[in-house]
Amino acid sequence: MPIDATQPYDDANIFAKILRGEIPSKKVYEDDFAFAFHDIAPQAPVHVLVIPKGPYVSWDDFSARGSDAEIAGFVRAVGHVARDHVGPGYRLLANVGGDAGQEVPHLHVHVFAGAPLGPMLAR
Ligand code: AMP
Repeated sequence: MPIDATQPYDDANIFAKILRGEIPSKKVYEDDFAFAFHDIAPQAPVHVLVIPKGPYVSWDDFSARGSDAEIAGFVRAVGHVARDHVGPGYRLLANVGGDAGQEVPHLHVHVFAGAPLGPMLAR
């Protein structure tokens, strides 16, 4: 069920539980600002999710409320994951809210790679 991206942050969401270590994940990278792990239902040979450590519902929420340090740190972490863990070529995707089909209400950037990725959007 797609989420309402304007809702307040819910710290019971599944990615908050992953950050707290309450449920397992297959970690690929971590630093002060971000955590990256394999998607549980990969849609490409490489499908990694990168999430900020702070409580942000979506890209919209993060870009409005995140500190400069958090935003810079997160963008660098996405770059690090993409550069060091995937290639050649990759796709970044962030679903925000209902029309985009966002399901988990904690900002996540999908990193897809490992094969030609096809058209940008389903038609
Ligand atoms: P979105 O539709 O953009 O909100 O994407 C949510 C993503 O989270 C989907 O690709 C799911 O497969 C993935 N996902 C859900 N639960 C888990 C989990 N426990 N561990 C890893 N990935 C998950």
